[in-house]
Amino acid sequence: MSEQKVYYGKDIEVMFNSEVCTHSGICVKGFPAVFNLSKRPWVDPDAATADEIARHIDKCPSGALTYTRLDSENPIKKEEWNMHIVEHDTAHKRFLIRDKGAIAAVMTYVTSSPELYIIDHTLVDNAYRGQGLGDKLVNAMVEYARENGIKIIPLCPFAKGRFERYPEYADVLNK
Ligand code: SF4
Repeated sequence: MSEQKVYYGKDIEVMFNSEVCTHSGICVKGFPAVFNLSKRPWVDPDAATADEIARHIDKCPSGALTYTRLDSENPIKKEEWNMHIVEHDTAHKRFLIRDKGAIAAVMTYVTSSPELYIIDHTLVDNAYRGQGLGDKLVNAMVEYARENGIKIIPLCPFAKGRFERYPEYADVLNK
């Protein structure tokens, strides 16, 4: 089973696979503001610009550290965005995107009340990263909330980051 963890920032998300890390220490010695083992979480993708973090991760010799740009350097591929349909599975309280029957991306929520939903988890399968599927899930939830007079608490770090990035979501954000 993969040991990959994801650290979400506003402009970049950083993936770390402990199984392939060769512990050369390039990340922590070279950029302690972002990679710091004495902090939890040990990766802070908002502690520097996406450019600086991407350049540093490119030096990781093992490929244990990888990233997906979420800013303008990696615009969402609109053809792919349009190809994927978001389903709202109300029985299981989740929005999801399937590809050939398998789940490619899923975002789950809990209902604190009929008017207050909490996004607690977003997961995009590794094979579909960088295609904007997570954004599409958040966007679908925002539209659903608008239509139904619901406010959202984005607890999951990915959704929180998207709400911080897109001020146009403020009307459904629970303050
Ligand atoms: S730079 Fe890459 S291989 Fe080296 S310690 Fe960091 S994560 Fe591991």
